[in-house]
Amino acid sequence: MSMIEFQDVEKYYGDFHALKDINLKIEAGETVVLIGPSGSGKSTLIRTVNGLERINSGKLIVNGRDIADKKTDMNKTRKNVGMVFQHFNLYNNKTVLENIMLAPRLVLGRDEAENKKLAMELLEKVGLADKAESMPAMLSGGQAQRIAIARSLAMQPKCILFDEPTSALDPEMIDDVLNVMKDIARDSSMTMLVVTHEMGFAREVGDRVIFMADGQILEDDTKEKFFDGE
Ligand code: ADP
Ligand code: ADP
Repeated sequence: MSMIEFQDVEKYYGDFHALKDINLKIEAGETVVLIGPSGSGKSTLIRTVNGLERINSGKLIVNGRDIADKKTDMNKTRKNVGMVFQHFNLYNNKTVLENIMLAPRLVLGRDEAENKKLAMELLEKVGLADKAESMPAMLSGGQAQRIAIARSLAMQPKCILFDEPTSALDPEMIDDVLNVMKDIARDSSMTMLVVTHEMGFAREVGDRVIFMADGQILEDDTKEKFFDGE
């Protein structure tokens, strides 16, 4: 069963046709990179997957549920689908550790000791264990984004959506974030849908590259075909 399946999906903002006849299947464990000009609908497409934007018609099946159906419980879907934004969206009045522990505690009811242990393991994984008690304002952009990724992983989602995760970072911080994302991509159980301009990431760990323009998918290729035209 596919992790994500778009069938004849249309999305409008008022009169503006933002997604046009989207048909797309993403299998569990795949890393799919979404590219295309600004305004082509990339962000809209990934935001429909966790219900941040609703589609107007078609079917959108995420982890076995049609989330276009108003009766579908989006809370269940959101537990399985993490999201990392361009601008981190950390809770600025909470410590790094608390940022990571909050959702698992409130949404999953994870036991406090277990929650802390997992959070510290994730901080190790993103190379920021020494920042556990820091406030987000003390972090660089690259550190903040790695914390945002750790926070997303703490929910142990099946899928993570990344919306231009390195676009707001100073150049020297981009690799630290991409390296964490590459680690996640190499974990074969995680499905990743990534909007990015980082072609090196696509080449190294992408399974497929999708090119969008004007609300449409114009190409959907394996990275080998996309980069080498094979
Ligand atoms: P991309 O991620 O490829 O830059 P977006 O999905 O952000 O593209 O936007 C696609 C188009 O939809 C753009 O023209 C944008 O201005 C428009 N758009 C995005 N969000 C909204 C919204 N909430 N209301 C109206 N128009 C929107
Ligand atoms: P980012 O690049 O950080 O995602 P955007 O400019 O794409 O920022 O969008 C920020 C917010 O504004 C999103 O919620 C998006 O849906 C909304 N938005 C984008 N374009 C428009 C638009 N033309 N009209 C109304 N809202 C928009």
